[in-house]
Amino acid sequence: MRIYHGELLHSASDLANFLDCEHLTALDLRALREPSAAPPRTADGDETALVQAHGLAHEERYLQHLRDTGHQVTDLKTAGGDLGQAVAATLEAMRRGDEVIYQAALRHGAFAGYADFLVRVPGRSCLGDWHYEIADTKLARSPKAKFLIQLCFYADLLEQAQGLPPARVHLYFGDGSERGFRTADYRAYFLALRRRYLAFIEQAGQATYPDPVSRCDLCHWREACETRRLADDHLSQVANITRLQTRRLQEAGVSTLAALAGLDVGAKVAGLHPETLARLRQQARLQRHKRDTGDDVYDILQGSRPAWAS
Ligand code: SF4
Repeated sequence: MRIYHGELLHSASDLANFLDCEHLTALDLRALREPSAAPPRTADGDETALVQAHGLAHEERYLQHLRDTGHQVTDLKTAGGDLGQAVAATLEAMRRGDEVIYQAALRHGAFAGYADFLVRVPGRSCLGDWHYEIADTKLARSPKAKFLIQLCFYADLLEQAQGLPPARVHLYFGDGSERGFRTADYRAYFLALRRRYLAFIEQAGQATYPDPVSRCDLCHWREACETRRLADDHLSQVANITRLQTRRLQEAGVSTLAALAGLDVGAKVAGLHPETLARLRQQARLQRHKRDTGDDVYDILQGSRPAWAS
């Protein structure tokens, strides 16, 4: 998301981020609206830079492949940094009927972004006897929900520009394979997510918590979130605990690692098998002991107890 001429604009990545983690959206929004109240960002590490470099190289390989196979490609990457100018250049290329448009800028209302490729296909639209479909390059070897959300996002903007929804969207994967998807199969899911996203933005300020998710390793808020979880002694510090187990414990009023470690042996938690609860409690005790004393304690799992617990 960004402020453009005083307006808050949302991108395809914003929706994908929201799908990964609502706390990420909340922090991004705070950083825009109240920069002084936002935590410090973590600078991109080597891993993030490597992923970005590979992604760009994959996109450029596909661009070269299109050119090598005789397609006429209009490259708008250099159309200028201003969004308004880039959108105007994209519309101009669409009206001319250019075969492939690279780095197409699209905008409708508060939504805007740059699609990797627009590919001309036959079929009447407000442009003429042609219209466009979206194609995107991804390093992954198989589709993910967030890829289709991003494609539907661009498909929606494209519909506004050409007066016709693209029937298909396309992904070009890191292993060189490509696959098309029927836009209509994913549109309802996309629209529901977008509604939820907009409602969330409207109610800015609602409480979110940095529950760890797979995205955290590459997130620009990761250090701030880790610091918060440590300060809160959050249950996610317990090794191998799942989100569902964390939720069950929280519902039972057990919200910290220390509280879990201090549970009575006979305590019960709704939705958690007694053996699972015993294992989690034991893990929390081991970690609390290490934290309190600095000593490493080892627990052999076949029922024997650590020396400190006897
Ligand atoms: S680090 Fe994880 S929990 Fe924090 S904002 Fe990013 S994805 Fe969400």
